[in-house]
Amino acid sequence: MGKAMIIGCGGVAQVAIHKCCQNSEVFTDLCIASRTKSKCDAVRDKLQGKTATKITTAEIDADDVTALTRLIQQEQPGVVLNLALPYQDLTIMEACLAAGVPYVDTANYEPEDTAKFEYKWQWAYRERFEQAGITALLGSGFDPGVTGVFSAYALKHYFDEINYIDILDCNAGDHGYPFATNFNPEINIREVSANGSFWENGHWVETRPMEIKRNYNFPEVGKKDMYLLHHEEIESLALNIPGIKRIRFFMTFGESYLTHLRCLQNVGMTSIEPIEFEGKQIVPLQFLKAVLPDPATLGPRTKGKTNIGCIFTGKKNGEVKHYYVYNVCDHQECYKEVGSQAVAYTTGVPAMIGAMLVLNGTWNKPGVHNIEEFDPDPFMAALNRWGLPWQENFDPELVD
Ligand code: NDP
Repeated sequence: MGKAMIIGCGGVAQVAIHKCCQNSEVFTDLCIASRTKSKCDAVRDKLQGKTATKITTAEIDADDVTALTRLIQQEQPGVVLNLALPYQDLTIMEACLAAGVPYVDTANYEPEDTAKFEYKWQWAYRERFEQAGITALLGSGFDPGVTGVFSAYALKHYFDEINYIDILDCNAGDHGYPFATNFNPEINIREVSANGSFWENGHWVETRPMEIKRNYNFPEVGKKDMYLLHHEEIESLALNIPGIKRIRFFMTFGESYLTHLRCLQNVGMTSIEPIEFEGKQIVPLQFLKAVLPDPATLGPRTKGKTNIGCIFTGKKNGEVKHYYVYNVCDHQECYKEVGSQAVAYTTGVPAMIGAMLVLNGTWNKPGVHNIEEFDPDPFMAALNRWGLPWQENFDPELVD
């Protein structure tokens, strides 16, 4: 079928690369391009001989639009899958526009010096992508990603209007460390230490970090405390789901994680303000990242399951209906299959699926679009096929 270029070679990218290589009918060729080429070469060496996909590697600084455009023009992929960090979103979009190649990512842009993620920077590219006839698919991970696909699927098949969405992200995995993050520590800590917020009756309601707590009995996992966070898909779902009155996002955290985080915050280690240390400027959060376990190494140690899904309340033919759709994923099963834990797996698989649907032309919509704007059915079918089967409940426990 065609060639994809994956930018970045961290925890999520390594899963996506494995899944592309399992799907070599679609991904006949793959170029892995990242800042540290040796990481790309190591993954290629691991997979070569076990897949029909032809893999090449390249060193690239994705902040450099000119160099990246040149690389894309040289490699001529049918899609670029951005699995670097959110800071690179805009430069990679620029290079895709210059080279005329579709773009897919899993996280929205945030400027490095302000911990604030919003779609406005990427939505500003709508007209340019539309005029160039190129598709940009935003947010093809799990959350955002599958949560948007679940929303589009619920609307298409079960509701005339959806009024309430609760997105529940539970990670009951245990890696045995007192404190570690399951994906990039800098991005993760910026996310959870920010103020929370939810969407209600047409506007944002802001909360203090971890102010709103609920306990939920997750299928196949059990009862867990979860906390309301701001999360990026709320912003796009609020626009794209008709009749919406409230959208909330909850994530589970264990006591040990929260106690460590509180302590690190209290001593200033999570700050993104540079400080002077022994004649050098350092950012405390970046230093913290350097001393924490690399999430890519958690795979062999992590046991337990994740459960991520959405609970919808809305109307069908005038009657109130509830619908819960979720995926349960086992850390050890993921590790056996691709050598990574479930948080990277649940992001890398949808990233491969989004890239596949763009590459094979199933999803072709020039402009910049969030994932819930596309037909959810082929994505839902692909989740079952490629390792993230989903389950439905029409009478779920609701979150008060
Ligand atoms: P990692 O830190 O493990 O990997 C990031 C990779 O990007 C590294 O290989 C890094 O290179 C590379 N990179 C960083 N800067 C550049 C640059 N300027 N040019 C080229 N390559 C660069 O992160 P994760 O794999 O954990 O996360 C990847 C993305 O997935 C993030 O954007 C994250 O927000 C998103 N994500 C989305 C989720 C979802 O459900 N939607 C869930 C989890 C993550 P090097 O190896 O040299 O450091």
